[in-house]
Amino acid sequence: MSVRIRPDLDRLPGYVPGRTVPGAIKLASNEVSLGPLPSVVEAITRAGTEVNRYPDTAASALVERLSERLEVAPGRLAVGCGSVTLCQQLVQATCTEANEVIFAWRSFEAYPIIAQVSNARQVRVPLTAEYTLDLPAMAAAVTPATRLVFVCTPNNPTGPAVRRAELERFLDSVPSDVVVVLDEAYREFVTDPEVPDGLELARERDNVVVLRTFSKAYGLAGLRVGYAVATPVVAEALRKVYIPFSVNSVAQAAAVASLDAADELLARCQGIVAERERVRSELLSLGYEVPETQANFVWLALGERTEAFNEHCLDNKVVVRAFAGDGARVTVSTPEENDVFLAAARSFLS
Ligand SMILES: *Cc1c(COP(=O)(O)O)cnc(C)c1O
Repeated sequence: MSVRIRPDLDRLPGYVPGRTVPGAIKLASNEVSLGPLPSVVEAITRAGTEVNRYPDTAASALVERLSERLEVAPGRLAVGCGSVTLCQQLVQATCTEANEVIFAWRSFEAYPIIAQVSNARQVRVPLTAEYTLDLPAMAAAVTPATRLVFVCTPNNPTGPAVRRAELERFLDSVPSDVVVVLDEAYREFVTDPEVPDGLELARERDNVVVLRTFSKAYGLAGLRVGYAVATPVVAEALRKVYIPFSVNSVAQAAAVASLDAADELLARCQGIVAERERVRSELLSLGYEVPETQANFVWLALGERTEAFNEHCLDNKVVVRAFAGDGARVTVSTPEENDVFLAAARSFLS
């Protein structure tokens, strides 16, 4: 007799490692291309000398620093092993198998996997023709069984962010017992003044949760640390479903050091924002369909040409993130790396 695995897991894809192309430029995961600052490496090295000890499971030093910086009480913060884990903790904290999680589609790839693994029902609401979240349709999808709505802003992988007026209208129309998660993994790259800071909304409304991460603008993707800002009731629930010690001590030290160096790290993001505008306008002038983006990536709506585009990029030693039949997401990087990608995008058309 073979062991019995949950049959529904058959519907989940097994892990397929990204193709490694020696010497290729990696623009597939929305990382920053520049390595950690010397001060952060130093903090990592120092923390490395104490890894025989378990981490502080409450991540007190990090929570205290975040509390000061964001001006929110420590009781309203929860940390996680990357904000993707906080997405899972949120579903676990709010849903049973009778409940529904709503999210846009296409959006962050982790949402459907998390909903299924956590045994919640999932409701996917199609994006608009402009690749933005269709908030009125998402509000209309709420039923008495709904416990959680993921609002990914800017939306991964398409790029647009939700503006203040439409978000407030949406929040007004969602019942206040439904948790609305503003997944702001790319917040530091937002330049549109009409895009609200989720923290302001979380201060005013008890059902709003903001997720942020050190993986993107802060350049710590390999260390896995993110955080949630929520009402104390939700933050406490997140801490209850937290796997003990899952934010490791090296990650905690690196996150604190990154907050110390925030000015320098966020200045680097401004260079990426400038490049984003250049990359997008170049792609538009080549004739690609590229939605407006507030993140550190662009979306090429390629439809059936996606796989051919992906192969062409790989042949040109550029790794992008292709979603077969739909489009490709490409990280905005340094001017030199972006030029290599743009050359590939140009030669694809010839
Ligand atoms: C990258 C990303 C995250 C989280 O990344 P972690 O590395 O787990 O912190 C969360 N949400 C979205 C939409 C992302 O793109």
